[in-house]
Amino acid sequence: MTTNGNGNGNGNGGNGNGGNGKRSLPQAGSDPVANLPAIEGFPASEKVYVERDGLRVPVRRIHLDGGEPPFDVYDTSGPQGIDPHHGLPKLRKPWIDARLAAEPGGSRGNRSQMHYARRGIVTPEMQFVAIRENVTGEFVRDEIARGRAILPANINHPETEPMIIGRNFLVKINANIGNSAVTSTIGEEVDKLRWAVKWGADTVMDLSTGKLIHETREWIVRNSPVPIGTVPIYQCLEKAGGDPEKLSIEMFLDTLIEQAEQGVDYFTIHAGVRLAYIPYTANRLTGIVSRGGSIMAKWCLAHHKENFLYTEFERICEVMKQYDVAFSLGDGLRPGSTADANDRAQLAELETLGELTEIAWKHDVQTMIEGPGHVGMHKIKENVELQLKICKEAPFYTLGPLVTDIAPGYDHITSAIGAAMIGWFGTAMLCYVTPKEHLGLPDRDDVKAGVIAYKIAAHAADLAKGHPGAQDRDNALSKARFEFRWQDQFHLSLDPDTAKDFHDETLPAPAAKGAHFCSMCGPKFCSMKITEEVREMAKAQAAQAIDVEAGLAAKAAEFREGGQKIYAGGDDPH
Ligand code: SF4
Repeated sequence: MTTNGNGNGNGNGGNGNGGNGKRSLPQAGSDPVANLPAIEGFPASEKVYVERDGLRVPVRRIHLDGGEPPFDVYDTSGPQGIDPHHGLPKLRKPWIDARLAAEPGGSRGNRSQMHYARRGIVTPEMQFVAIRENVTGEFVRDEIARGRAILPANINHPETEPMIIGRNFLVKINANIGNSAVTSTIGEEVDKLRWAVKWGADTVMDLSTGKLIHETREWIVRNSPVPIGTVPIYQCLEKAGGDPEKLSIEMFLDTLIEQAEQGVDYFTIHAGVRLAYIPYTANRLTGIVSRGGSIMAKWCLAHHKENFLYTEFERICEVMKQYDVAFSLGDGLRPGSTADANDRAQLAELETLGELTEIAWKHDVQTMIEGPGHVGMHKIKENVELQLKICKEAPFYTLGPLVTDIAPGYDHITSAIGAAMIGWFGTAMLCYVTPKEHLGLPDRDDVKAGVIAYKIAAHAADLAKGHPGAQDRDNALSKARFEFRWQDQFHLSLDPDTAKDFHDETLPAPAAKGAHFCSMCGPKFCSMKITEEVREMAKAQAAQAIDVEAGLAAKAAEFREGGQKIYAGGDDPH
């Protein structure tokens, strides 16, 4: 059953507080979100809700012409028309409250979805995901219990619409946002968040390293319908005055708790950058390119000690499970150039990530594994095979990979090629790369370009994997294209605005929306129009053939009824 949406995803009104009901959005001297641009909806679309099992799961319904039935697509955009000062409605709050109320008095239990899954419980979050992915709740529970999927859902981020990351589900994409010390404001980052989820980002990472890290994150979390990831070592480094040598596990745990209290759903933690692996990077073409990896490498070398994120990993697990923050075990030694792909440093770190995955699972902490980076096409498959084996099928989450290093300005393309391949081979989530990669902080346009490039890669992977239903949208769009239903072709596309604008550049007149050609080949050379004519001719000829056959049959019957005489009215002259 579905119902129409009014832009408000559920009946729980937002009051701007976090999951514990105590916080409100920080109000800076001037309003940081005063002039956010409105986020337009998609044309010919409406948000509707699939209602089942007491849940309301959003989909975007695209209305089509020509008597075609409407087409529903997965929707990440979240409730619309909400004042960002209030934050989104708290869809999950009643579910979280009920679980917390069931804990023995005064205890802080393990609140992870993996913990519930391993006890045979299908949570409302799992059921929500099951409806979203068209599978059973039991299947979702089983995939989470065995560690093959994660459902990032911090108890202090009740605004999320549950989603799942695992290779037996739709391939997901992440968009990175966040300010730097050089540029951007809270308002711009909230705008990028809303813009990214409109175009289909399944999760968003706030990688802010500039001013107001805490405040920026609060605005982002409270306004995000998708899980939020961070790299806590960035904020920790700010607390250490920018000096990696001053970092400590206490400072790190404090930062984790601060961010977990705010509602961050997954943390990238570079616990696999071990002291012994750092020399392996000495002869690399591009050394250590991960920010977190380089920070931890500097700490290890300065103190000549093992990485405290590795040695104190179980203390970190204790924090993660109380809030249900998932690990995204960082690949701090990922290759930063195709020359360094699959080298000793990268693979040594992967072995450690496998070891840490088992420790995390011992605590029922949901875990995914980050992957490269820059990898030639011929080396991509090996990455997935090794990761699945070493990390026991924990979801793989890769940055691209970029399949060549020679196209700065176009790295959303170089990386989407690798992303499509690695998704096909089994990567569960693809971290987008924007055209600004290696060049500058992405702006709004870059965010859109990156998200669309990665929606293409993820969907191409779903198609190649034979994911049930993935082909349907392609078929609907191809049918619209072949039938010259131009509006439907636009509306079914990932970016209807651009498709329509390109068409209208040369044929803007309304009548052109019914034309059986476009300006690419023109009316006389439109192969689809010619095919249409060929089919009409074939149909006419077939009809003619049927007429001839029917005529012959009638004549034969007449002949038989007439006594089978060869010459009418007389005998055979011979
Ligand atoms: S003119 Fe060419 S590009 Fe345009 S619809 Fe026809 S076949 Fe396609």
